[in-house]
Amino acid sequence: MLSLPPPYASRLLHDEPLARYTAARLGGPADMLYVARESTDELVEVVSAAWAQGVPARVLGGGANVLVSDNGFRGLIVINDVAEITFGNWHGGRNVAATGGAGLTVLARKCAARGLAGLEWAASVPGTIGGAVVNNAGAHGSDMAATLRDVVVLDAERGPELLACADLVYGYRTSVLKQRADRRFLVLLATFALEVDEPEAIHARMDEFIAYRKRTQPPGASLGSIFKNPPGDYAGRLIEAAGLKGYRIGSVQVSPVHANFFVNTGSASASDYYTLIRQVREAVYQHSGVELELEIELVGEW
Ligand SMILES: Cc1cc2nc3c(=O)[nH]c(=O)nc-3n(C[C@H](O)[C@H](O)[C@H](O)COP(=O)(O)OP(=O)(O)OC[C@H]3O[C@@H](n4cnc5c(N)ncnc54)[C@H](O)[C@@H]3O)c2cc1C
Repeated sequence: MLSLPPPYASRLLHDEPLARYTAARLGGPADMLYVARESTDELVEVVSAAWAQGVPARVLGGGANVLVSDNGFRGLIVINDVAEITFGNWHGGRNVAATGGAGLTVLARKCAARGLAGLEWAASVPGTIGGAVVNNAGAHGSDMAATLRDVVVLDAERGPELLACADLVYGYRTSVLKQRADRRFLVLLATFALEVDEPEAIHARMDEFIAYRKRTQPPGASLGSIFKNPPGDYAGRLIEAAGLKGYRIGSVQVSPVHANFFVNTGSASASDYYTLIRQVREAVYQHSGVELELEIELVGEW
């Protein structure tokens, strides 16, 4: 059990189903769940209490890149909804800082409105800055690594640290943070180095990206791309070539629009979703000899 100081103790939820906090609308109950939306202090107090008391803790933003087990999570899930975006003059130019719980799309739009370019790719990528920092989210030929200047990370053992973008050792949808099995860190703040441009020009690029996604990606409950694209190829193309476009298990379907998106069409279970992932991976391996690597993360017991 977790002991929190007032007023946080009264906001702790017990046996809270996680499906409503994830983009795929899947996942069983967390033993404890806390939604931090007031301040960074609140977020830090709650997560630090779990670390100090030896309670397993996992921070989620939009739950847009995680498949949560039907058995849920033993310990504390903290939903980071602390969203603050600050514009200012740093490092010799106009720039922006955003807390880990700020929405990526909100940040992209606010930057565009102020004539700051570089985050157009993020205009329709769901989730928070925290998740995007961990995963090196990206689209349309760009990613976090392209404009992220530095991040403030709270480490359970080392305390607060200012990490430069290079310290995150970014690769395609990966970082040193994503590879940490212990998960005892918290992304608190990210600052970006953006370019100045005309808002109309930035909006035009964003609109083009949004229209492209509408044409090529399905609506509905999903986790975006399930697998990373292997070097020189596309996971979606390989899945389609293996004859699995439209294939379904229960209420989970390989999207007929984009085969690397698996859509929860109704009352799917996480277990069906994961079975589909494994079957697709195996079928692609049998068909083309390529071992697809997961882009999404598995949370809970599998
Ligand atoms: C329809 C759809 C389209 C998508 N398109 C794209 C795309 O084009 N490009 C792309 O890169 N991704 C895409 N994604 C995946 C997803 O949007 C990104 O990975 C996003 O960055 C995830 O952010 P999140 O806040 O939802 O992270 P979550 O899924 O909540 O968490 C992801 C990981 O980050 C950790 N984490 C989150 N916040 C913090 C924090 N503050 N401190 C410490 N750890 C934290 C979590 O513990 C977890 O390990 C798509 C998803 C969907 C559903």
